[in-house]
Amino acid sequence: MQVNKLALIGIGLIGSSIARGAREKGLVRTIAIATRRPETLEEARALDLGDIYTLDAAEAVEDADLVILCSPVGTYETLIKQIAPHLKPGAILSDVGSVKAHVLNVIRPHMPRGVHLVPGHPLAGTEHSGPAAGFSDLFEGRWCVLTPEDGTERQAIETLTQFWQGLGSSVETMSAEHHDLVLAITSHVPHLVAYNIVGTVDDLEQHTKSEVIKFSASGFRDFTRIAASDPIMWRDVFLTNRDAVLEMLGRFLEDLSVLQRAVRMGDGEALEALFTRTRAIRRSIIEAGQETDAPDFGRVHGTGKPGE
Ligand code: NAP
Repeated sequence: MQVNKLALIGIGLIGSSIARGAREKGLVRTIAIATRRPETLEEARALDLGDIYTLDAAEAVEDADLVILCSPVGTYETLIKQIAPHLKPGAILSDVGSVKAHVLNVIRPHMPRGVHLVPGHPLAGTEHSGPAAGFSDLFEGRWCVLTPEDGTERQAIETLTQFWQGLGSSVETMSAEHHDLVLAITSHVPHLVAYNIVGTVDDLEQHTKSEVIKFSASGFRDFTRIAASDPIMWRDVFLTNRDAVLEMLGRFLEDLSVLQRAVRMGDGEALEALFTRTRAIRRSIIEAGQETDAPDFGRVHGTGKPGE
């Protein structure tokens, strides 16, 4: 499978990883890149990520067979209005946004006839941003979820599936609503918890804070990695997946109260039972190849060897 012209709107971590991977694996002939700021465009050009560079998204999508929005979800409504009249009949319009029902709602009303909308979400990323942060094998061995509506042309779904498989991903298709509910608990609420814990530390008085930072053990340190994620992207996630996040947050808070009670009552049995269950979940994530079993997440210590 080879796409003749791919247009990437937004060239940060995800967009630049798609560009690198697609090129390296021969999945596309031409890559057009559009972004908002001239500095970012120049960075993308210096990194040689594409063939056509422009600050005009409408120009980038001209003649493109596959268009992927790779900017924060909050930019989609403006972008679709800009690019819709320029999309080629038969083209596939997709995205990589971390929420999906909102994406369908804002894009669908502007879709020209004959253009196929197949939203997507690669479940891969890091806490880094910008064109230099991407790498070609970011999607290797990771999932990509597609959320086409009923009635979407099968061939368009198949082409996009093959594209993501070409980047090394496994592809699963589900409804946008189901995606948003699953991601609310597996990704969005954990980010909210991390932002909250790190925010609490930031609010502590100066003396305690410096000790927390000085002695930060892996628990807090791992939260800071998540809480260093891009503020604009995550602001948009919580603005656009509000219902599913509130539903899952409600459950989370109920369960937290149960744990709080177990701690207060000294209920060791209840605590041990939960911690045993959660340890088994981590095991199954490692067995599914979605995480490393290396001690301390494979961090390099002292001797320069991971995990030491
Ligand atoms: P990023 O590194 O911050 O890159 C965002 C890109 O969007 C930048 O090139 C930025 O360019 C561009 N942009 C911003 N506003 C724009 C506009 N109005 N028009 C055109 N381009 C615009 O972000 P990212 O991590 O790649 O995330 C991009 C998307 O991927 C988001 O929708 C996010 O939900 C999704 N996603 C992220 C992750 C992750 O872990 N990071 C994982 C899966 C999915 P300028 O510098 O020119 O503004």
